[in-house]
Amino acid sequence: MHAMMLRQLRTPLTWTELPDPVPGDREIRVRVLACGVCRTDLHVVDGELPHPRLPIVPGHEIIGRVESLGLGVTGLSIGQRVGIPWLGHTCGHCPYCRGGQENLCDEPVFTGYQRHGGYATAALADARFAFPLGESGSDVELAPLLCAGLIGWRALRMAGDARRLGLYGFGAAAHVIAQVARWQGRDVYAFTRANDAASQAFARSLGARWAGDSDAAPPEPLDAAILFAPVGALVPKALAAVRKGGRVVCAGIHMSPIPSFDYALLWEERSILSVANLTRQDGVEFLDLAPRVGIHTHTRTYPLREANQALEDLRAGRFDGAAVLVP
Ligand SMILES: [Zn+2]
Ligand SMILES: [Zn+2]
Repeated sequence: MHAMMLRQLRTPLTWTELPDPVPGDREIRVRVLACGVCRTDLHVVDGELPHPRLPIVPGHEIIGRVESLGLGVTGLSIGQRVGIPWLGHTCGHCPYCRGGQENLCDEPVFTGYQRHGGYATAALADARFAFPLGESGSDVELAPLLCAGLIGWRALRMAGDARRLGLYGFGAAAHVIAQVARWQGRDVYAFTRANDAASQAFARSLGARWAGDSDAAPPEPLDAAILFAPVGALVPKALAAVRKGGRVVCAGIHMSPIPSFDYALLWEERSILSVANLTRQDGVEFLDLAPRVGIHTHTRTYPLREANQALEDLRAGRFDGAAVLVP
């Protein structure tokens, strides 16, 4: 197998040949069909997340086909198409796992961070954390659903029944969640980098009622806002944009420092919360919902060997929607 591997933080990934890994107990090996590029991958490469395993193969939006089964795998068979997400393993016995919050597990293992991910031609996964996908939808189009979609879905649920919903940072996750929110009958307000007319037009094309700069005030107060951009300075801006009792949901795994702000912005029962990881139940729910919504992901594909280019284009905001690597 081949992989694009991160050997040292803040250095380019390198094309590496490896022996095909042998699945251990309850593991599967998949042939990778496509793997989405997530902003979290940039945080891993940039050393913004603590304790990555190195060297590591990034990538946690994996669409693959099962080609080998370890002992004790149930419910999956050779040839089946599956999705492999960020949540790669949980302990199963900590208070969070036992309390239905496995996304907060005390000893989690994350794909493309602590175990090798999908920037590769093959990957191992704990079979219990892989989602059977069926055969409808193309590999490339499905890949961004595995994180941008899943985490976005969890964030949307956290936003409650907000009718006027702000989305800060109109990248892979927002472009999926805007479609779900519209389908649910919500009004979407899209906030982008200043003067990013292309992203604002993209948001309007997906049904956003309003699109503008993240510094701008929305035309009406919002019921809730979701922050997908990893920019702490947006937290007080989003608080200022929500009504009394409104919520600001921070959906990223990493964010630059949040500047201090007047209590008046939080006063009147506004709240700030964060979304961490996903549960398998989120995945089951969202992957069941996605075809009913008719989500159409906008993708730019790159050959696996060009993973570094894909990461740089993501960093620079050079495409709308999501980047997907194809072996
Ligand atoms: Zn646990
Ligand atoms: Zn991700």
